[in-house]
Amino acid sequence: MNWWKRLKGRLKLEEPLKRHTTLRTGGPVRFFIQPADTQDLKLLITSAKRYKIPLSVIGAGSNILAGDKRLRRMAVSLSSPFFKEIAFKGNLVEAGSGLMLAKLVSETAKRGLSGAEFLSGIPGTLGGALVMNAGAWGSQISKRVMKIRVMDSRGRIKNLAREKIDFAYRKSNLEKFIILGATLKFFRREKRKIRQDIERYRRQRQLLQDRSFPSAGCIFRNPPGDHAGRLIDLCGLKGRGFGGARISSKHANFILNRKNGRAADILKLMKLIKKEVKDNFKINLQPEIKIWQ
Ligand SMILES: Cc1cc2nc3c(=O)[nH]c(=O)nc-3n(C[C@H](O)[C@H](O)[C@H](O)COP(=O)(O)OP(=O)(O)OC[C@H]3O[C@@H](n4cnc5c(N)ncnc54)[C@H](O)[C@@H]3O)c2cc1C
Repeated sequence: MNWWKRLKGRLKLEEPLKRHTTLRTGGPVRFFIQPADTQDLKLLITSAKRYKIPLSVIGAGSNILAGDKRLRRMAVSLSSPFFKEIAFKGNLVEAGSGLMLAKLVSETAKRGLSGAEFLSGIPGTLGGALVMNAGAWGSQISKRVMKIRVMDSRGRIKNLAREKIDFAYRKSNLEKFIILGATLKFFRREKRKIRQDIERYRRQRQLLQDRSFPSAGCIFRNPPGDHAGRLIDLCGLKGRGFGGARISSKHANFILNRKNGRAADILKLMKLIKKEVKDNFKINLQPEIKIWQ
């Protein structure tokens, strides 16, 4: 098994995933790889298949709860410059999936292109945002998508037209692909107004969300017509915790990793939340975060 000799990008063995998730949990992963380009990525897909190693893409790790035990997996990070490019053509933006959303927001604002403002403060990559159909303040990234460039499980590059993609609340049918990049459509607006909106959203986030300790943002999806945070709060669970993990006292749908909390502590808290909300409101909360274990 010496496929990695042909790799141009970077490979780390037994890399702790806690270094790559915003929740700061995660034991060692067998292979942590930053491919240099699509040729490298194809090599990873074929090698993973050949040696029966599960392959998962990791973006900024801001929506992943990685388990404490060693993972026999290939975690692929599209964080090399090749996957972070951004180009402008009129109102269209072509961006790589490894580009951070903050960069997309600032680069579009600079050019008077509006439509990405709501993404400010979401600490993810474009790829992660597309898979999750990230959204805030009533907008979702799917509204901006014209087409998405992906690599399939056989290493073939395809362009998916918007009509071929199913987006729903915080989910999509893109998870079976590796997203390489997307063409997004924006519209012209006064730069001053764009900047004002970005600032307004930043202040609202500061007011409502809890950034005092590592987290993965909202842990549970909102049930139809309600807010998971409201239900968790009504169950009197704010401030409850196990080990180093605590439910935020500011936003009940945030779990904070206060003192080297383990994924096991967070999972225990999630179980408690689910049970209490089910017992009190007969509602089955579903996790928004992706659990890797
Ligand atoms: C403080 C905080 C606030 C947040 N606020 C919001 C918010 O307001 N709205 C919101 O929607 N989310 C929010 N989030 C959650 C998170 O930031 C988003 O879901 C984000 O889009 C995830 O992007 P990521 O790059 O971190 O993805 P990751 O967490 O790394 O991955 C998420 C999923 O996408 C897959 N994936 C990632 N990249 C690719 C790719 N290139 N190809 C294929 N699959 C891929 C992963 O395998 C995984 O299944 C918040 C998180 C935090 C920590």
